[in-house]
Amino acid sequence: MSKKFYITTTLPYVNADPHIGFALEIVQADAIARYHRNLGEEVIFNTGTDEHGVKIYRKAVERGMNPQKYVDSYAVKFDNLKQALNLSYTNFIRTSDSEHEKAAQEFWNLCLKNGDIEKKKSKIKYCSGCELEKTASELVDDHCPIHPNLTLEEIEEENYFFKFSKYEKSLLDFYKKNPDFVVPDFRFNEIKKFVENGLNDFSISRLKKKMPWGVEVPNDRDHVMYVWFDALINYISTLGWPKDKKNFKAFWPGVQIAGKDNLRQQSAMWQAMLMSAGLPNSKQVMIHGFIISGNQKMSKSLGNVIDPFVLVEKYGTDVVRYYLLRHIHPFEDSDFNIEKFEAAYTADLANGLGNLVSRVAGLVEQSNQAIGDRRSAIGDQAIKGNR
Ligand SMILES: [Zn+2]
Repeated sequence: MSKKFYITTTLPYVNADPHIGFALEIVQADAIARYHRNLGEEVIFNTGTDEHGVKIYRKAVERGMNPQKYVDSYAVKFDNLKQALNLSYTNFIRTSDSEHEKAAQEFWNLCLKNGDIEKKKSKIKYCSGCELEKTASELVDDHCPIHPNLTLEEIEEENYFFKFSKYEKSLLDFYKKNPDFVVPDFRFNEIKKFVENGLNDFSISRLKKKMPWGVEVPNDRDHVMYVWFDALINYISTLGWPKDKKNFKAFWPGVQIAGKDNLRQQSAMWQAMLMSAGLPNSKQVMIHGFIISGNQKMSKSLGNVIDPFVLVEKYGTDVVRYYLLRHIHPFEDSDFNIEKFEAAYTADLANGLGNLVSRVAGLVEQSNQAIGDRRSAIGDQAIKGNR
Protein backbone atom coordinates (compact mmCIF):
# COMPACT_ATOMS: atom_id res chain seq x y z
CA MET A 1 0.00 0.00 0.00
CA SER A 2 1.45 3.37 -0.96
CA LYS A 3 2.13 6.10 1.55
CA LYS A 4 -0.64 8.68 1.94
CA PHE A 5 -0.21 12.44 1.90
CA TYR A 6 -2.85 15.08 2.50
CA ILE A 7 -2.48 18.81 1.89
CA THR A 8 -5.09 21.55 1.94
CA THR A 9 -5.28 25.27 1.25
CA THR A 10 -7.57 27.49 3.29
CA LEU A 11 -10.93 27.99 1.68
CA PRO A 12 -11.23 31.44 0.15
CA TYR A 13 -14.23 33.45 1.16
CA VAL A 14 -16.51 33.96 -1.82
CA ASN A 15 -17.23 37.66 -1.52
CA ALA A 16 -14.76 38.70 -4.22
CA ASP A 17 -13.05 37.25 -7.27
CA PRO A 18 -9.95 35.05 -6.81
CA HIS A 19 -6.94 37.28 -6.15
CA ILE A 20 -3.22 36.79 -6.62
CA GLY A 21 -2.65 36.06 -2.91
CA PHE A 22 -4.82 32.98 -3.12
CA ALA A 23 -3.18 32.02 -6.42
CA LEU A 24 0.13 32.01 -4.53
CA GLU A 25 -1.26 29.76 -1.80
CA ILE A 26 -2.77 27.26 -4.17
CA VAL A 27 0.28 27.12 -6.47
CA GLN A 28 2.50 26.51 -3.42
CA ALA A 29 0.20 23.68 -2.33
CA ASP A 30 0.15 22.32 -5.87
CA ALA A 31 3.96 22.18 -6.04
CA ILE A 32 4.09 20.26 -2.74
CA ALA A 33 1.29 17.91 -3.83
CA ARG A 34 3.12 17.15 -7.10
CA TYR A 35 6.36 16.54 -5.21
CA HIS A 36 4.65 13.94 -3.01
CA ARG A 37 3.04 12.28 -6.04
CA ASN A 38 6.48 12.04 -7.62
CA LEU A 39 7.63 10.21 -4.49
CA GLY A 40 4.98 7.62 -5.33
CA GLU A 41 2.61 8.65 -2.55
CA GLU A 42 -1.15 8.73 -2.83
CA VAL A 43 -2.10 12.38 -2.46
CA ILE A 44 -5.29 14.17 -1.53
CA PHE A 45 -5.04 17.87 -2.31
CA ASN A 46 -8.02 19.85 -1.05
CA THR A 47 -9.31 23.30 -1.80
CA GLY A 48 -12.79 24.79 -2.12
CA THR A 49 -14.89 27.73 -1.02
CA ASP A 50 -15.97 29.14 2.34
CA GLU A 51 -19.57 30.16 1.75
CA HIS A 52 -21.33 31.13 5.00
CA GLY A 53 -21.31 34.21 7.21
CA VAL A 54 -22.56 37.74 7.45
CA LYS A 55 -20.32 39.21 4.76
CA ILE A 56 -21.68 36.87 2.10
CA TYR A 57 -25.21 37.15 3.40
CA ARG A 58 -25.10 40.96 3.07
CA LYS A 59 -23.59 40.86 -0.42
CA ALA A 60 -26.30 38.49 -1.57
CA VAL A 61 -29.04 40.67 -0.03
CA GLU A 62 -27.47 43.78 -1.63
CA ARG A 63 -27.77 42.14 -5.02
CA GLY A 64 -31.24 40.82 -4.33
CA MET A 65 -29.96 37.28 -4.69
CA ASN A 66 -30.63 34.10 -2.80
CA PRO A 67 -27.39 33.41 -0.83
CA GLN A 68 -27.10 29.90 -2.28
CA LYS A 69 -27.35 31.24 -5.85
CA TYR A 70 -24.81 33.93 -5.01
CA VAL A 71 -22.25 31.43 -3.67
CA ASP A 72 -22.92 29.01 -6.54
CA SER A 73 -21.80 31.67 -9.00
CA TYR A 74 -18.59 32.30 -7.02
CA ALA A 75 -17.72 28.65 -6.50
CA VAL A 76 -17.52 28.29 -10.29
CA LYS A 77 -15.09 31.22 -10.54
CA PHE A 78 -12.77 29.62 -7.98
CA ASP A 79 -12.96 26.20 -9.59
CA ASN A 80 -11.93 27.88 -12.87
CA LEU A 81 -8.51 28.49 -11.30
CA LYS A 82 -7.86 24.78 -11.75
CA GLN A 83 -7.49 25.13 -15.49
CA ALA A 84 -5.97 28.61 -15.47
CA LEU A 85 -3.16 27.62 -13.10
CA ASN A 86 -2.93 23.92 -14.07
CA LEU A 87 -3.72 22.79 -10.52
CA SER A 88 -3.78 19.14 -9.52
CA TYR A 89 -6.23 19.30 -6.65
CA THR A 90 -8.35 16.23 -6.10
CA ASN A 91 -11.04 17.71 -3.82
CA PHE A 92 -13.08 20.88 -4.10
CA ILE A 93 -15.25 21.26 -1.02
CA ARG A 94 -17.97 23.85 -0.57
CA THR A 95 -19.08 24.63 2.97
CA SER A 96 -22.70 24.77 1.79
CA ASP A 97 -22.48 21.06 0.78
CA SER A 98 -24.96 19.09 2.86
CA GLU A 99 -22.34 16.47 3.82
CA HIS A 100 -20.10 19.22 5.15
CA GLU A 101 -22.98 20.72 7.12
CA LYS A 102 -23.73 17.35 8.69
CA ALA A 103 -20.06 16.94 9.60
CA ALA A 104 -20.03 20.40 11.23
CA GLN A 105 -23.06 19.44 13.34
CA GLU A 106 -21.46 16.15 14.38
CA PHE A 107 -18.28 18.03 15.33
CA TRP A 108 -20.34 20.51 17.37
CA ASN A 109 -21.99 17.65 19.26
CA LEU A 110 -18.59 16.17 20.14
CA CYS A 111 -17.35 19.49 21.56
CA LEU A 112 -20.65 19.89 23.42
CA LYS A 113 -20.37 16.41 24.89
CA ASN A 114 -16.87 17.29 26.07
CA GLY A 115 -18.29 20.30 27.97
CA ASP A 116 -16.62 22.88 25.73
CA ILE A 117 -19.69 24.70 24.42
CA GLU A 118 -21.80 26.94 26.62
CA LYS A 119 -24.44 29.60 26.05
CA LYS A 120 -23.85 33.03 27.54
CA LYS A 121 -24.62 36.72 27.11
CA SER A 122 -21.84 39.01 26.03
CA LYS A 123 -20.86 42.17 24.24
CA ILE A 124 -18.24 41.84 21.57
CA LYS A 125 -16.56 44.00 18.98
CA TYR A 126 -16.69 42.39 15.60
CA CYS A 127 -14.89 43.10 12.32
CA SER A 128 -17.13 42.06 9.42
CA GLY A 129 -14.06 42.20 7.15
CA CYS A 130 -12.24 39.44 9.06
CA GLU A 131 -15.47 37.85 10.31
CA LEU A 132 -13.75 37.81 13.70
CA GLU A 133 -14.21 39.27 17.12
CA LYS A 134 -11.52 41.75 18.00
CA THR A 135 -10.16 42.15 21.50
CA ALA A 136 -8.94 45.55 22.72
CA SER A 137 -5.26 44.59 22.41
CA GLU A 138 -5.67 43.84 18.70
CA LEU A 139 -7.15 47.19 17.76
CA VAL A 140 -5.40 50.21 16.32
CA ASP A 141 -7.31 53.48 16.97
CA ASP A 142 -10.37 51.38 17.76
CA HIS A 143 -10.23 49.82 14.29
CA CYS A 144 -9.19 46.46 12.89
CA PRO A 145 -5.60 46.90 11.62
CA ILE A 146 -6.42 44.83 8.50
CA HIS A 147 -9.64 46.71 7.76
CA PRO A 148 -9.10 50.29 8.96
CA ASN A 149 -11.95 51.52 6.74
CA LEU A 150 -14.59 49.42 8.48
CA THR A 151 -16.34 50.43 11.68
CA LEU A 152 -16.28 47.65 14.25
CA GLU A 153 -19.69 46.34 15.13
CA GLU A 154 -20.76 46.00 18.75
CA ILE A 155 -22.83 42.92 19.24
CA GLU A 156 -24.61 42.03 22.46
CA GLU A 157 -26.57 38.85 22.42
CA GLU A 158 -26.80 35.41 23.85
CA ASN A 159 -24.54 33.11 21.90
CA TYR A 160 -22.80 29.82 22.20
CA PHE A 161 -19.14 30.03 23.18
CA PHE A 162 -16.29 27.62 22.68
CA LYS A 163 -14.04 27.21 25.73
CA PHE A 164 -10.84 28.17 24.00
CA SER A 165 -9.27 29.18 27.34
CA LYS A 166 -9.42 25.57 28.50
CA TYR A 167 -6.87 24.61 25.85
CA GLU A 168 -4.08 27.06 26.69
CA LYS A 169 -1.84 24.48 28.32
CA SER A 170 -2.69 21.64 25.93
CA LEU A 171 -1.81 23.86 22.97
CA LEU A 172 1.50 24.95 24.47
CA ASP A 173 2.37 21.32 25.31
CA PHE A 174 1.46 20.32 21.77
CA TYR A 175 3.67 23.06 20.28
CA LYS A 176 6.55 21.93 22.50
CA LYS A 177 6.22 18.33 21.35
CA ASN A 178 6.02 19.36 17.68
CA PRO A 179 8.83 21.85 17.10
CA ASP A 180 8.10 22.06 13.35
CA PHE A 181 4.35 22.39 13.71
CA VAL A 182 4.21 25.90 12.28
CA VAL A 183 6.57 26.97 9.50
CA PRO A 184 8.31 29.46 9.40
CA ASP A 185 9.73 29.83 12.93
CA PHE A 186 8.82 33.48 13.35
CA ARG A 187 5.16 32.66 12.80
CA PHE A 188 5.42 29.76 15.25
CA ASN A 189 6.84 32.15 17.86
CA GLU A 190 4.02 34.58 17.15
CA ILE A 191 1.31 32.00 17.83
CA LYS A 192 3.10 30.65 20.93
CA LYS A 193 3.15 34.19 22.32
CA PHE A 194 -0.52 34.65 21.46
CA VAL A 195 -1.45 31.50 23.39
CA GLU A 196 0.91 32.29 26.30
CA ASN A 197 -0.79 35.68 26.71
CA GLY A 198 -4.02 33.88 27.55
CA LEU A 199 -6.95 32.77 25.45
CA ASN A 200 -10.48 34.13 25.46
CA ASP A 201 -13.42 31.88 24.77
CA PHE A 202 -14.90 32.79 21.42
CA SER A 203 -18.48 32.86 20.28
CA ILE A 204 -19.40 30.19 17.77
CA SER A 205 -22.98 31.04 16.90
CA ARG A 206 -25.13 33.85 15.56
CA LEU A 207 -28.81 34.50 16.08
CA LYS A 208 -30.60 33.15 13.06
CA LYS A 209 -33.12 35.97 12.93
CA LYS A 210 -30.23 38.42 12.38
CA MET A 211 -28.10 36.26 10.16
CA PRO A 212 -29.70 33.08 8.81
CA TRP A 213 -26.91 32.08 6.36
CA GLY A 214 -25.06 29.36 8.23
CA VAL A 215 -25.14 25.80 9.48
CA GLU A 216 -27.95 25.30 11.98
CA VAL A 217 -26.83 24.62 15.56
CA PRO A 218 -27.92 21.11 16.58
CA ASN A 219 -31.05 21.18 18.76
CA ASP A 220 -31.36 24.97 18.67
CA ARG A 221 -33.06 26.31 15.59
CA ASP A 222 -32.61 29.93 16.71
CA HIS A 223 -28.86 29.84 16.08
CA VAL A 224 -26.53 29.18 13.20
CA MET A 225 -22.84 28.39 13.58
CA TYR A 226 -20.27 31.11 13.41
CA VAL A 227 -18.69 30.94 9.95
CA TRP A 228 -15.17 30.08 11.13
CA PHE A 229 -16.37 27.23 13.30
CA ASP A 230 -18.07 25.48 10.41
CA ALA A 231 -15.46 26.41 7.78
CA LEU A 232 -12.47 24.94 9.63
CA ILE A 233 -14.18 21.57 9.79
CA ASN A 234 -13.91 21.31 5.99
CA TYR A 235 -10.34 20.04 6.41
CA ILE A 236 -11.73 16.77 7.70
CA SER A 237 -15.22 16.71 6.17
CA THR A 238 -13.53 16.71 2.75
CA LEU A 239 -11.97 13.36 3.73
CA GLY A 240 -15.42 11.96 4.42
CA TRP A 241 -15.33 12.43 8.21
CA PRO A 242 -17.34 11.35 10.18
CA LYS A 243 -18.91 8.76 7.87
CA ASP A 244 -15.84 7.46 6.04
CA LYS A 245 -13.58 6.66 8.99
CA LYS A 246 -11.29 4.53 6.84
CA ASN A 247 -10.42 7.35 4.44
CA PHE A 248 -10.14 9.81 7.32
CA LYS A 249 -7.69 7.56 9.20
CA ALA A 250 -5.66 6.95 6.05
CA PHE A 251 -5.13 10.64 5.24
CA TRP A 252 -5.50 12.63 8.46
CA PRO A 253 -3.49 14.40 9.88
CA GLY A 254 -2.57 16.62 6.96
CA VAL A 255 -0.53 19.69 6.05
CA GLN A 256 -2.34 23.03 5.90
CA ILE A 257 -1.21 26.08 3.93
CA ALA A 258 -2.53 29.47 4.93
CA GLY A 259 -1.79 33.19 4.80
CA LYS A 260 -0.43 35.09 7.80
CA ASP A 261 -3.90 36.50 8.53
CA ASN A 262 -4.97 32.90 9.17
CA LEU A 263 -2.28 31.98 11.68
CA ARG A 264 -4.52 32.13 14.72
CA GLN A 265 -7.43 30.25 13.17
CA GLN A 266 -5.32 27.41 11.74
CA SER A 267 -2.67 26.87 14.38
CA ALA A 268 -4.62 27.65 17.57
CA MET A 269 -8.43 27.77 17.17
CA TRP A 270 -8.70 24.78 14.86
CA GLN A 271 -6.19 22.79 16.91
CA ALA A 272 -8.13 23.42 20.14
CA MET A 273 -11.34 22.41 18.33
CA LEU A 274 -9.72 19.14 17.23
CA MET A 275 -8.57 18.45 20.80
CA SER A 276 -12.07 19.12 22.06
CA ALA A 277 -13.59 16.72 19.52
CA GLY A 278 -11.00 14.08 20.47
CA LEU A 279 -9.42 14.05 17.01
CA PRO A 280 -5.71 14.14 16.07
CA ASN A 281 -4.16 17.56 15.46
CA SER A 282 -2.97 18.72 12.04
CA LYS A 283 0.49 17.54 10.96
CA GLN A 284 1.85 20.95 10.01
CA VAL A 285 0.74 24.48 9.22
CA MET A 286 2.68 26.51 6.64
CA ILE A 287 2.14 30.26 6.69
CA HIS A 288 2.86 32.43 3.66
CA GLY A 289 3.09 36.23 3.55
CA PHE A 290 0.95 38.67 1.64
CA ILE A 291 1.51 39.81 -1.90
CA ILE A 292 1.57 43.58 -1.78
CA SER A 293 1.79 46.11 -4.57
CA GLY A 294 3.92 49.24 -4.39
CA ASN A 295 4.38 48.50 -0.66
CA GLN A 296 0.63 48.72 -0.13
CA LYS A 297 -2.01 46.13 0.41
CA MET A 298 -3.90 45.49 -2.81
CA SER A 299 -7.36 46.99 -2.82
CA LYS A 300 -9.99 47.84 -5.35
CA SER A 301 -10.04 51.49 -4.28
CA LEU A 302 -6.27 51.84 -4.86
CA GLY A 303 -6.63 50.18 -8.27
CA ASN A 304 -3.60 47.96 -7.63
CA VAL A 305 -5.38 44.60 -7.55
CA ILE A 306 -3.79 41.90 -9.71
CA ASP A 307 -6.13 39.41 -11.29
CA PRO A 308 -4.52 35.99 -11.82
CA PHE A 309 -6.83 35.22 -14.76
CA VAL A 310 -5.70 38.35 -16.61
CA LEU A 311 -2.03 37.44 -16.01
CA VAL A 312 -2.55 33.90 -17.26
CA GLU A 313 -4.35 35.10 -20.35
CA LYS A 314 -1.56 37.47 -21.28
CA TYR A 315 1.55 35.50 -20.26
CA GLY A 316 0.46 31.88 -19.94
CA THR A 317 -0.01 29.46 -17.06
CA ASP A 318 3.59 28.37 -16.57
CA VAL A 319 4.91 31.93 -16.51
CA VAL A 320 2.55 32.82 -13.66
CA ARG A 321 3.33 29.60 -11.75
CA TYR A 322 7.05 30.16 -12.27
CA TYR A 323 6.90 33.74 -11.01
CA LEU A 324 4.86 32.84 -7.90
CA LEU A 325 7.20 30.01 -6.93
CA ARG A 326 10.51 31.62 -7.89
CA HIS A 327 10.14 35.34 -7.24
CA ILE A 328 7.58 35.57 -4.46
CA HIS A 329 9.09 34.80 -1.05
CA PRO A 330 7.44 31.68 0.42
CA PHE A 331 7.03 33.23 3.89
CA GLU A 332 7.65 37.00 3.83
CA ASP A 333 5.49 39.68 2.25
CA SER A 334 6.53 40.25 -1.36
CA ASP A 335 5.96 43.14 -3.66
CA PHE A 336 4.32 42.37 -6.97
CA ASN A 337 4.18 44.79 -9.83
CA ILE A 338 3.86 44.20 -13.50
CA GLU A 339 7.27 45.76 -14.32
CA LYS A 340 9.06 43.26 -12.05
CA PHE A 341 6.97 40.45 -13.45
CA GLU A 342 7.81 41.38 -17.04
CA ALA A 343 11.49 41.85 -16.17
CA ALA A 344 11.62 38.34 -14.71
CA TYR A 345 9.75 36.98 -17.71
CA THR A 346 12.23 38.59 -20.11
CA ALA A 347 15.42 37.82 -18.14
CA ASP A 348 14.71 34.29 -16.81
CA LEU A 349 12.32 32.79 -19.30
CA ALA A 350 12.71 34.59 -22.65
CA ASN A 351 16.45 35.40 -22.52
CA GLY A 352 17.59 32.61 -20.21
CA LEU A 353 15.58 29.47 -20.78
CA GLY A 354 14.11 30.65 -24.10
CA ASN A 355 17.49 31.38 -25.66
CA LEU A 356 18.94 28.11 -24.39
CA VAL A 357 16.13 26.14 -25.99
CA SER A 358 16.32 28.15 -29.18
CA ARG A 359 20.13 27.69 -29.48
CA VAL A 360 19.93 23.99 -28.83
CA ALA A 361 17.10 23.71 -31.34
CA GLY A 362 19.19 25.74 -33.84
CA LEU A 363 22.19 23.43 -33.38
CA VAL A 364 19.99 20.38 -33.81
CA GLU A 365 18.56 21.88 -36.96
CA GLN A 366 22.03 22.67 -38.40
CA SER A 367 23.31 19.18 -37.73
CA ASN A 368 20.02 17.59 -38.64
CA GLN A 369 21.65 15.65 -41.45
CA ALA A 370 24.31 14.13 -39.22
CA ILE A 371 21.84 13.15 -36.48
CA GLY A 372 19.49 11.72 -39.05
CA ASP A 373 22.32 9.71 -40.62
CA ARG A 374 23.45 8.33 -37.30
CA ARG A 375 19.95 7.38 -36.34
CA SER A 376 19.45 5.52 -39.55
CA ALA A 377 22.80 3.75 -39.08
CA ILE A 378 21.72 2.68 -35.58
CA GLY A 379 18.37 1.69 -36.98
CA ASP A 380 20.00 -0.48 -39.60
CA GLN A 381 22.13 -2.18 -36.95
CA ALA A 382 19.06 -2.82 -34.82
CA ILE A 383 17.27 -4.36 -37.73
CA LYS A 384 20.28 -6.53 -38.50
CA GLY A 385 20.54 -7.52 -34.85
CA ASN A 386 16.93 -8.64 -34.81
CA ARG A 387 17.35 -10.96 -37.76
ZN1 LIG B 1 -10.67 43.00 9.99
